Amino acid sequence: MVIKKIFIVGAGLMGSGIAQVCAQSGINVILNDISKEAIDKGLKDIAWSVSKFIEKGNLREDKETILNRIKTDDDFSSAADADLAIEAVFEKLELKQEIFRKLDEACQQNTILASNTSAIPITELGSMTKRPEKVLGIHFFSPVPMMPVAEIIRGIGTTEETILIGVDFVKSIGKEPIRVESDVAGFLLNRINFPSTIEAIRLVEQGIGTVEDIDKGMRLAFGRRMGPFETGDMVGLDVTYGALMACYEETKDPRFYPPQLLRRKVKAGHLGRKTGKGWYEYNEDGTRKAG
Ligand code: NAD
Repeated sequence: MVIKKIFIVGAGLMGSGIAQVCAQSGINVILNDISKEAIDKGLKDIAWSVSKFIEKGNLREDKETILNRIKTDDDFSSAADADLAIEAVFEKLELKQEIFRKLDEACQQNTILASNTSAIPITELGSMTKRPEKVLGIHFFSPVPMMPVAEIIRGIGTTEETILIGVDFVKSIGKEPIRVESDVAGFLLNRINFPSTIEAIRLVEQGIGTVEDIDKGMRLAFGRRMGPFETGDMVGLDVTYGALMACYEETKDPRFYPPQLLRRKVKAGHLGRKTGKGWYEYNEDGTRKAG
């Protein structure tokens, strides 16, 4: 099955990134969000990012051709004939389940339904539909236009045929697929990454190291492009919190319980770049304030 039309629910950081890479790969996109501001911001961010790729000579088509492939919709009526629908709303189980119920009603029988969840079991979303065999996880990494990998996650009812459609789709938009054969909380890569992020926050809580030094050390010692706090600010502290809670709820393993400092920062609205303050502080134009 070749994906020619995709319906994306959620036009935030991830949904707009997914929309962009699909449009750049020739796929027609419908972008849906309950918030008009989110749609407007998503389209603006996409236009900016596509321009950057064109300036660097990384895209063969012109900006208008790419952007014209993205349409918006404030209800699910245009999901009917999509080949694939991807959900990228907030990391809340009940909200995602509601979206899957609505997608199942709105989409034709053959539409594949995917979630970009960071940690919620795919089975809990597939079970909301009459087509659990056609439901899978496609977990992209942020920023989507830059990160060349996506996890393809199998729920208990997902068929191999659906997994292979996911694998081919991800390859068709220029990403390397990583197969995750069971929807364990955190899947593969976050399951490895979360404990190290939690440990970094605890070390700061205990006053053993600073945010700046830990980020610098992780970059220089382990060849990472960003340290855990720089990544955390880009991803959003609320998103990290939601994903850790989903892992904790699922496993009841205290290793995944969000540290107090993270919980407090989320309560205070210090969510990272998007609010101008997280582990670091940011100027209006998104650049980091000098420490
Ligand atoms: P975000 O907060 O940037 O965007 C979420 C969007 O969902 C918002 O624009 C919101 O208006 C919209 N939304 C909420 N309820 C809706 C509804 N009922 N119908 C339509 N739209 C609705 O979040 P994000 O960072 O893009 O994350 C989205 C998903 O992707 C989450 O499940 C998250 O765990 C996952 N994820 C995030 C990252 C990351 O780095 N941020 C990485 C991988 C996966």
